[in-house]
Amino acid sequence: MTSLNVEKLSTRYQTSKGEIHALEDVSFSLNEGESIGIAGESACGKSTLGLSIIRMLIGGKTISGKINFNGESILDLSEQEFDKRYRWKKIAMVFQGAMNSLDPVFTIKEQFVEVLKQHRYEGSFEKVISDAINSVSLDENILKKYPHELSGGMKQRVIIAMALILKPKFVIADEPTTALDVLIQAQIVNLLKKLKKDGLSIMIITHDLAILSEIADKIGIMYGGQIVEFGSSYDVFKNPKHPYTQGLLASIPTLYGNKPTYIKGIPPSLLDPKPECRFIARCPLAMEKCKKDPPNFKTDSGYVKCWLLEDKE
Ligand code: SF4
Repeated sequence: MTSLNVEKLSTRYQTSKGEIHALEDVSFSLNEGESIGIAGESACGKSTLGLSIIRMLIGGKTISGKINFNGESILDLSEQEFDKRYRWKKIAMVFQGAMNSLDPVFTIKEQFVEVLKQHRYEGSFEKVISDAINSVSLDENILKKYPHELSGGMKQRVIIAMALILKPKFVIADEPTTALDVLIQAQIVNLLKKLKKDGLSIMIITHDLAILSEIADKIGIMYGGQIVEFGSSYDVFKNPKHPYTQGLLASIPTLYGNKPTYIKGIPPSLLDPKPECRFIARCPLAMEKCKKDPPNFKTDSGYVKCWLLEDKE
C-alpha cells in the first residue's frame, strides 16, 4: 500500500541578500488512492513543496525533515538512486504551465517517444504510449497530431499522460487547471478523479479552493512557507480554524449573494523571517503571544498552527 509521509520538511534558497525560508517544518501524510490539495497565495511555498518531494529544486536545498515513501526515507537516497528508482517511476510531477512546453514541430507521438528514450525505457513503446493515452481518455488519433491542432484541455491531458507513462504511484499536479476555461477545468478535475479511483495518489497544488472542494480528501493551507492548517477536506471547509483559512474561504464569492471579503495586507517576506507567527501582520485576532512562533496544535483530522487553538487541543 502506497503511503507518503512528509515530516518537518524545511527548504531554503540562498540569495545574495540572505536565506529565503521557502518551506518551514511542513508535515502531512497521504495513503494510496488519496488526494491532498495544497492551497495558498502565490509565493507561499506550494511549488517548492512539490519540487522538494520530487527532488528537482533549482537553487534551493532541503535542509531538514523527512520524506518517507512506503517506509523508505527518500531524502537519504543518492541522486542516482532516487532518479533510477523513484523519479517518474514512483513519483511524477505535472509542472505548472507544462502544456505550453510541447514542441510545436514534433507530433504528439514523437514527443512521447522522446520521453521514453530519455527514461531509457526498454519495453514496447507502442504499448506504453497507448496505455498512457487511454488512461487520460484521449483517442489514439491525437498521436499523429501537432500541439497546435489540440485544444488546451487535450494538451493538458497529453502532459498528464506523459507524467503517467512509467506508471507512478504518486503524482504532483502543479496548477493543473490554471489558464483553462471553466468547462475544460471540469474535464481535468473529472480526469483527476478517475485517476484517483484507479488507485493513484495525487497532490494538487492550486490557489483555487473550489477545485479542491471537488477532489481533495485532505487539505493543507499554506502561508508564508508553512502549512498553517491541515486536515480532512470536510473539516477544513466546514469548520476552518486558522484565521488565514477563514479569510481565504470568506473571499470566495457564493451563489447566494454573500459579499466576499478580502484579507488586507500582503504576505510576509521569507528572507530571514522573524520567529513569530507569519500571519501576525494581517491577522485580525493577533495578540501578544503571537510574537512567538506557534506550534502545531492537533485537531480531529490534522493540525492548526495558531495560538488560538492552545487550550482547545
Ligand atoms: Fe493570528 Fe496569532 Fe493565530 Fe497567528 S497565532 S494566526 S497572529 S491568532
